[in-house]
Amino acid sequence: MKKLETRCIHPVELEEDSKGAVTAPVFLSAAYDYQDAAELRYPGFYSTYNQQRVGKIMAQLEQGNWGMPFSSGMAAISTAILSFAGQHDHIIFCRDLYGGTFRLAEEELPKRGISCSYAAHSPEQFKALLQPNTKVIYIETPANPLLSIVPLKEIAALAKAHGAITIVDNTFASPINQLPLLHGIDISVHSGTKYLGGHNDLPFGVLISASEAHKARIHATAKLYGGSLSPYECYLVERSLKTLALRVQRQNENAFKLAEYLSAQPLTRQVYYPGLPSHPGYAIACEQMTGFGGMLSFELDIPAEKIPAFLKALRIISPALSLGGVESLICAPAVTSHRGLTPAQRQELGIKDNLLRLSVGIENVDDLITDIDTAISKAMH
Ligand SMILES: *Cc1c(COP(=O)(O)O)cnc(C)c1O
Repeated sequence: MKKLETRCIHPVELEEDSKGAVTAPVFLSAAYDYQDAAELRYPGFYSTYNQQRVGKIMAQLEQGNWGMPFSSGMAAISTAILSFAGQHDHIIFCRDLYGGTFRLAEEELPKRGISCSYAAHSPEQFKALLQPNTKVIYIETPANPLLSIVPLKEIAALAKAHGAITIVDNTFASPINQLPLLHGIDISVHSGTKYLGGHNDLPFGVLISASEAHKARIHATAKLYGGSLSPYECYLVERSLKTLALRVQRQNENAFKLAEYLSAQPLTRQVYYPGLPSHPGYAIACEQMTGFGGMLSFELDIPAEKIPAFLKALRIISPALSLGGVESLICAPAVTSHRGLTPAQRQELGIKDNLLRLSVGIENVDDLITDIDTAISKAMH
């Protein structure tokens, strides 16, 4: 098989009638002649030429059997979950979850008669929560915001023995750093809005499955819930993916250097990065990841009321939500992604008021270090 970098640039063959074009054409038609085709060319869900290309490319990048794009990460996530769980079923989620997924589990799934439990990181905790009606185990690794790591192989084996489906949100890692299906996971989902799109300008989602047997079921759910992606956006996804390996490799390097730098600073109390031996998930990350990613969090040892001044003083890194793009972004989870939780819930998750989550971009890392340094001094004076 061609290497990952090459597959990003030359993903799947163009159709024979592409007139010598180097990039894929965009086919906007939502209707296709059915008379001469032996079977419907693009059955259901408007899954036309460009959508099928994105599905194939992502399946290739994650070494899955097939894939499909969605209009958002949440559309991919809800479709994956609702394809395999219904009334009287039970799902085990990992404890550290993207906020939208947590609310889906807390607010929407119970309305459909699905019960949910939450496990921390160890397979023993997942095992203890298994019930006869457990149909899905859903995990995020690395997870927001402390980059907690869940062992993919053990969870996949546990679920297989129980007859449950495993779904992994692979958003934080991207296929450059982690290939969940190779560890026995059934389905990988992404918020493509983050690393896959990579420019903070393209909301979409993708789902990649290891099994042809899941296809009909997932297609049917996807069609009814309707989160399809337009051909225009599919084209932009394909264009973004060409630089995925390049971007993520630089983000890995920058994040690693920043994590080491911040660890040595007197004003940073704690740095969470799965590539640091001090991180509780380090050993497992070394086993299942091919890079440690571009996300890190740290606790600034300055009074929490000075955090806004620190953020205001940054000149390169933008205080903004979202992540994975070429621009470095920073946020304080306690007042953004996790503000809906009570202080006690935040404390249980280990999210302190002075915790900052950094999505490292592809700028020169020395400039990023200077930006943080200068902003700390300004905030303290
Ligand atoms: C952003 C995000 C999502 C949701 O994706 P959308 O594209 O915003 O719907 C899901 N999981 C993770 C880990 C995310 O960061």
